[in-house]
Amino acid sequence: MRLRGYIAEVPDFPREGILFYDISPLLADAGAWRAALDELEAVLTGVKPTLLVGIESRGFLLAAPLADRLGAGFIMARKAGKLPGATEGRAYDLEYGQERLELQSGAVKSGDRVALIDDLIATGGTARAAVLLLRGLGAEVACVACLLELTELGGRAALEDISAPLHSLIPI
Ligand code: AMP
Repeated sequence: MRLRGYIAEVPDFPREGILFYDISPLLADAGAWRAALDELEAVLTGVKPTLLVGIESRGFLLAAPLADRLGAGFIMARKAGKLPGATEGRAYDLEYGQERLELQSGAVKSGDRVALIDDLIATGGTARAAVLLLRGLGAEVACVACLLELTELGGRAALEDISAPLHSLIPI
């Protein structure tokens, strides 16, 4: 199935000059959504992760059903201040300012084999911070997987730089 046709392009969102890739039409179509999950499942079956980590928020939509299909655990990497209890975090730079990703303390154990999941990789800064946070907690990050890769923004190279292989279904 040609999944690209289910991705809407929204100019100037959330700010002027940004072309936002909206996965809502893909989520809304049962057949296309299942096909996307099937393709990611096929990639991840070979990777054999014990834990899927979804990046807030659209990464959760992919990681939770995939974890169920693969018989793996699922945990959330959330923006600062969203998770209850003690957390471990890592800050990363955005075009303007900084962002911080957090995991609940104890959610990741040394020796976990992680697949990190998000909807889209652009510069790779978010995924890179998550990989480094997970490694710092003793996990092995086996791969990063996403639906969309904005190939001109260098995310693949940023992840290669830290030896994190990227699997994307739809290069744009
Ligand atoms: P980056 O850290 O630059 O790789 O950005 C990836 C994160 O920002 C992902 O969580 C995406 O959901 C979101 N993102 C970045 N650029 C876009 C875009 N053009 N359209 C939709 N989401 C985006």
